[in-house]
Amino acid sequence: MTIPAFKKIDIQAYQPGKSNVRKLKKIIKLSANESALGVSSKVKKVLSDKNLNIFRYPDSKSNNLRQELARKFNCNIDKIICGAGSDEVIQMLCQLYLRPNDEVVVPKYSFLMYRIYSKIVGAKVRFAKEDNFKISTKEILKNITSKTKIVFLANPNNPTGTYLTKKELLNLRKKLNKNILLVVDDAYCEYMVNKDYSSGLKLFKNLDNVFILRTFSKIYGLSALRIGWGYGAKKIVDELNKIKPPFNVNKIAQLAAVEALKDTSFIKRSIKHNLFYAKKIKLFLEKYKIYSNAVTANFLFLDFSKAKIKAKQFYNKLKNKGIILRSTDEGYDIENKLRLTIGSKLDNLKFLSIAKRILDK
Ligand SMILES: *Cc1c(COP(=O)(O)O)cnc(C)c1O
Repeated sequence: MTIPAFKKIDIQAYQPGKSNVRKLKKIIKLSANESALGVSSKVKKVLSDKNLNIFRYPDSKSNNLRQELARKFNCNIDKIICGAGSDEVIQMLCQLYLRPNDEVVVPKYSFLMYRIYSKIVGAKVRFAKEDNFKISTKEILKNITSKTKIVFLANPNNPTGTYLTKKELLNLRKKLNKNILLVVDDAYCEYMVNKDYSSGLKLFKNLDNVFILRTFSKIYGLSALRIGWGYGAKKIVDELNKIKPPFNVNKIAQLAAVEALKDTSFIKRSIKHNLFYAKKIKLFLEKYKIYSNAVTANFLFLDFSKAKIKAKQFYNKLKNKGIILRSTDEGYDIENKLRLTIGSKLDNLKFLSIAKRILDK
């Protein structure tokens, strides 16, 4: 039978961090940068409410949540848009800004969804070389042409764990043509204690040519509910609201996010936990010449170039024991490295003991 012709899209589907191993029932998933402490008990309480009235459509504009966000981050409710994951906000931005043959610039090793959504709407993606796995603002600027509409970057960056300092980021905005939208993805900003770092929201909340992305999937532990938000000029947000599917963020996600925002002690504990174990695991791996980035977000980017073992071997041996890391070969095209998410106390201790057995051999 004839299949009606569809347009050709030159992309690879996004591959999520693996979450199962054949034959093994109990696995330790350290492949998707999810929250180490799970979710706040306040959120769990809301989720167990039997009277959620799910037969009603959710609030199309996530008004309660946007109000909470505006209050908590001292920003303007009219400049906030919520999405089914920050993912969806990236998609809407691409739909709003990009025509076929327009261009976007992304750092070579950046989050894959920027290139995927850009290509779907027909834009050309230019990749800016990095400086030893750190974003190079110079290379970004080199790739700008008269067709460039958006520059996407995550700070700190996934999967490399490196970040642009406050100064570097401000300088990039200054040198970048003012007609180009700079999208700063703050997905991991909550974890950052580094003194020379500032989140995109903090730095650019009043600029009309910067758009900020935030998510509830990481430190807030709501990945499965799919909820994130964007912050930018009211005129941009008004247009995005025309594109937005009417009920994109479900009711349970909205309720959970409001509660998650209130539990500041959960966030504090998460940050402390992350610092403690990230440092501990980093030091442990260094004994085996497996080096990583300075501690930043809730993951480490492991380099095996000086180690006795190859990344792939380490990955497979851990996998056989039920511990899953993120391979950076597929999608990212980075050889001999792995990304390791900082897990719960139990997961981390298990990782340390099994890794020791593998590496001591
Ligand atoms: C995990 C992650 C996100 C979050 O995506 P959601 O769609 O909100 O789950 C966004 N940006 C980066 C860089 C990430 O690593």
